[in-house]
Amino acid sequence: MSSERENKNRVYLDNAATTQMSTEVKRAMEPYLQRNFGNASTVYSYGEEAKEAMEHARRIIASSLWAKPSEIYFTSCGSESDNWAVKCAAGECRQEGQHIITSKIEHHAVLNSCEYLEKLGYEVTYLEVDEKGMVSPEAVLAAIRPDTTLISIMFANNEVGTIEPIMQIGKIAREQGILFHTDAVQAYAQIPIDLRRYPIDMLSASAHKFHGPKGVGFLYIREGVTLPSFIHGGGQEEGKRAGTENVAGIVGMGKAAELAFCDMGNRIRKETMLRNYLLEKVMHEIPGVCINGHRSKRLPGNANFSFRGVDGASLVILLDEDGICASGGSACNTGEERISYVIRELKVPEDYAPGTIRMTLCGSTTREDIDRAVESLKKNVARLRD
Ligand code: PLP
Repeated sequence: MSSERENKNRVYLDNAATTQMSTEVKRAMEPYLQRNFGNASTVYSYGEEAKEAMEHARRIIASSLWAKPSEIYFTSCGSESDNWAVKCAAGECRQEGQHIITSKIEHHAVLNSCEYLEKLGYEVTYLEVDEKGMVSPEAVLAAIRPDTTLISIMFANNEVGTIEPIMQIGKIAREQGILFHTDAVQAYAQIPIDLRRYPIDMLSASAHKFHGPKGVGFLYIREGVTLPSFIHGGGQEEGKRAGTENVAGIVGMGKAAELAFCDMGNRIRKETMLRNYLLEKVMHEIPGVCINGHRSKRLPGNANFSFRGVDGASLVILLDEDGICASGGSACNTGEERISYVIRELKVPEDYAPGTIRMTLCGSTTREDIDRAVESLKKNVARLRD
């Protein structure tokens, strides 16, 4: 069977791991992969064309966040943006204090950056979350010390989709004069984020999560926030992020952002409706299941459930045999542990936790896709229980 035919028969429900690049994005990138190959730092027309295309993408991304183009810095991925924000903000403020607050369910790009800083002598408070995966603003406030210089809490969790109380946490940080970073890799382009209202100083995002190309992301740095460079070298990105720019990737990310925001309201409604249909169908048709994450404060496309007495990794393989792509946890973490640290922190009961499955939808997911996925789940959960 050709891979194209194989793809047509597949139901892709792992959009939190990565998304398929859209045709419009590919088309927008194509000229910059070969014909318009100029280095954006050169002054002749090739370079100018590349620069203009990049600046166009910067303007689109800035307007999608109600930010200024000068506040958007291109990076190679969400992990780089997180590393830059956490390590460099901590470094910049080290004279004032060396205490950081984050949560236990952050992505490893934040958690491992914090661990790295601990080895350098920083202290980190890792806040617990409730059984829905919610960070409590009161707990953030209580954890603040005179030497706290940075708070980093994700906008929405990549495994269970819970949307954190970022407005309240940001306000607390602002009132206390503490820098606030949010990892919005899962939230950006899925839900609206108005940076005129949200007291956020730094925000990370990544193109491959919203139908853009892999290997490109950005960090928003609010005007007035001093963040030293993470990658040293040439003067690209106003001297803040060295390295010849990934022009095609940046153009693709801009196009993907434009597409994501042009019909966001309808897409959110459709994804939420199908996601709820999926959750309810699973709850009604398969016994011994629990839903993880917040029921309403969750990303539109995220469904995460745990089946009693089932091994999630085996279930993923059986689903794959039926042409259903789902995740047993987070793709970035597979292979490391049988029960993900996020599911552990949510205190999912022990007989359910190993049977965790994440299904994440996108704008092109259909009701038929969901019906096929639930049929396969029903059959394979029963098979594994037998
Ligand atoms: N942060 C979150 C919440 C994520 O879900 C991911 C990837 O899954 C990342 C950061 C890392 O992004 P990237 O794959 O672009 O490095």
